[in-house]
Amino acid sequence: MAYTGTALNLTAFEKSWEPAASGAGFRTGIFGQEEGLSLPFAVRDPAPGAPWLYLSTGIHGDEPAGPLALLAALQENLLPAGAGVVAFPLLNPEGLRANTREHPQYGDLNRDYLALSSPHVRAHLACLKKLALRYDLALCLHEDWESAGYYVYEHVERGKPGLGRAILEAAEPICGLDLAPVIEDRPADRGLISSRPGTVKPEDLGGGWAEALYLGEGLCPAVYTVEAPSARDLDTRVNAHLAALKVVADALTKPAPPGCTRWH
Ligand SMILES: [Zn+2]
Repeated sequence: MAYTGTALNLTAFEKSWEPAASGAGFRTGIFGQEEGLSLPFAVRDPAPGAPWLYLSTGIHGDEPAGPLALLAALQENLLPAGAGVVAFPLLNPEGLRANTREHPQYGDLNRDYLALSSPHVRAHLACLKKLALRYDLALCLHEDWESAGYYVYEHVERGKPGLGRAILEAAEPICGLDLAPVIEDRPADRGLISSRPGTVKPEDLGGGWAEALYLGEGLCPAVYTVEAPSARDLDTRVNAHLAALKVVADALTKPAPPGCTRWH
C-alpha cells in the first residue's frame, strides 16, 4: 500500500516559489542541485530582537500538502510579522516528481540525518552550517497516508510549554485528529506524540535520524512535525497545515511574558 493521491506539480511549484518568496520579502537561493532539480531555500531577516522560525517540507515525495501550504503562506502573507524565517520547501524534489515517499536512489531522506548518505541531506546540513543560526521554533510539514486525522510530534525541552495541543485544536475542525493510542509505534495522546531532546535514540527511528531530531538536538529547542491525513482531499490538508502555521505565527508574534525575552 502507498499513497495514490494527487502529486505535487513540481514544475508549477518551482515557477511560483521564487515570486512568492521574493514578494514576501525573502531572498532566495539554492543549496544544491541533483539530477537537474534544484534544492531551493529562502531567508527573511528578523526585525531587531525578533525570533527565528525554521520551516521545511517536501522531504517525503508523496506529501504534496506541505509544499503547497508553505507556498500559500508566502502568497497570503501568513508568516509571523517581524520574525526571521528560513524556509526549505522541496527537500526531496525527485521523490516529489515520482510521487513516492522515498528518494528513488537514496531512500528515506528523513532517516538520513545521522548517516548523511544522500547528497541532499549533506547539502542541507552544509546550508544550515553556513547560515549559522539558532532557531526559536521549527515546523516540519508532513502527511501520513495511513492516518485517520491530524497529529503532531512535539520535541520540546523539558519545562517549556509546547504548542502541540494548540496546533491540534486548530487542525481538528478542518480534518479531525488521529485518536489512536499508538501512532507509528509511539504512544499518542489525542494526536500528540511528545519527546524531549536527548531522549530519542537513532534505533527508535529504524537506525536513522529524522530532520526534526537533528534540529532538536542542537539547533532549536522547540520542534514540531505536523502530519496531515492523506485520506482527506488536498485542499483540506493544505488548510490544516495553514492552521498550524497560524498557531505558530501567533505564538511568535505575541508579547513575551514578563522576565522572558521570547514567548517560550
Ligand atoms: Zn513525511
